[in-house]
Amino acid sequence: MDHLLSRRVRAARSSVIRDLLKVVEQPGMLSLAGGLPAPESFPVARMREAADRILGASDGLSSPLQYGPTEGVGPLRSWVADQMGGGTAGVVQADQVVITTGSQQALDLLAHALCDPGDVAVVEHPAYLGATQALEAAGAALEPVPADADGIRVDVLAQRLAQGLRPKLCYVAPNFQNPTGATLAQDRRSALGDLADRYGFMVIEDDPYRELRFRGHHLPAVRTFGANVVTLGSTSKVLAPGLRVGWLVAPSWLVAPCVRLKQARDLHTSSLSQWLAHDVLGDERFLAGHRTALAALYAQRCDALCGALIDQLGDRVSFVAPDGGMFVWAALAGVDTTDLLPRAAANGVAFVPGGAFHLDGGGRDRARLSFATLGAEGLAEAVRRLVAVV
Ligand code: PMP
Repeated sequence: MDHLLSRRVRAARSSVIRDLLKVVEQPGMLSLAGGLPAPESFPVARMREAADRILGASDGLSSPLQYGPTEGVGPLRSWVADQMGGGTAGVVQADQVVITTGSQQALDLLAHALCDPGDVAVVEHPAYLGATQALEAAGAALEPVPADADGIRVDVLAQRLAQGLRPKLCYVAPNFQNPTGATLAQDRRSALGDLADRYGFMVIEDDPYRELRFRGHHLPAVRTFGANVVTLGSTSKVLAPGLRVGWLVAPSWLVAPCVRLKQARDLHTSSLSQWLAHDVLGDERFLAGHRTALAALYAQRCDALCGALIDQLGDRVSFVAPDGGMFVWAALAGVDTTDLLPRAAANGVAFVPGGAFHLDGGGRDRARLSFATLGAEGLAEAVRRLVAVV
């Protein structure tokens, strides 16, 4: 009966990473693969307190157990607007915010709101798989623009635009990018904002890792450098991904189309999750302490992974240590990481091969190694298992 399937779903590729998560669930496996936040960092006690409070206070009308508005619950939209506004960002209004079911849904909404089949979407390359999947599902023609240790090569994009490329959008993850861990340099942020204004395309600034900075200083968002930018955020890396609460902050003309698309997709994001997120995020003192502790935990794990790689692989491995986030993008000289993966998995360690993030068959000597989920000892043992099969 599969002749009944639509062309769209036939063309859709499964995510290598989501498929890999099944392998990772095998007993005894040490995983450097999924970008799973450290489970011990989940603010369980604070969430329980929040659940008691919001369920106790429920008045039926604005109840966390009731249907809610598609745009998201008002106080959470205001919290996001307050966080995003101020300074060079100017004022962000709550009605520019749409609460989404994870930032992944924001990618899907924007891909469909902006792209007709065949429209050009520029993506940094390598890119987050969930973004390329969402854009491909909307029928966009992907135009990869190379990225280096300072993020997308905005000079290459400028050249292509000067030669006539006319994209609808450009997708970037500016902080501790997935998979490379790179941060987009400030001069590139401003040049990208300028290009979007000049050539009339939207920048999608996908920023779930911003709060996980453990070295250096926060850089101003791309949004502060141009009018044509949508910024995406998420509770997934800071509180817990199981909440499935993210958001997009868009210019006014783009908000209503995204809301219309979302109506048909899920009516609205879970009211219960939104109120829980609002209660915890709105507790400034708690959040400040939690963010500091998270950054310290990931800093320690990043150092443990980088140290183990250097100790055990020496000059057979090279990487740029990230300033935050969850990933080390390791180059293993002379190794095909796609071929390596089954042998590594048989030896009890998993990672994501670099080829998964490339649209052109490149990156085959690369591995995305996540330091988020395992403790220091687990990371050292995972590297030992990896080295044994390299
Ligand atoms: N963008 C990037 C760059 C990501 O790495 C992820 C999660 N891995 C997401 C978006 C989606 O996050 P969520 O839907 O949980 O907010």
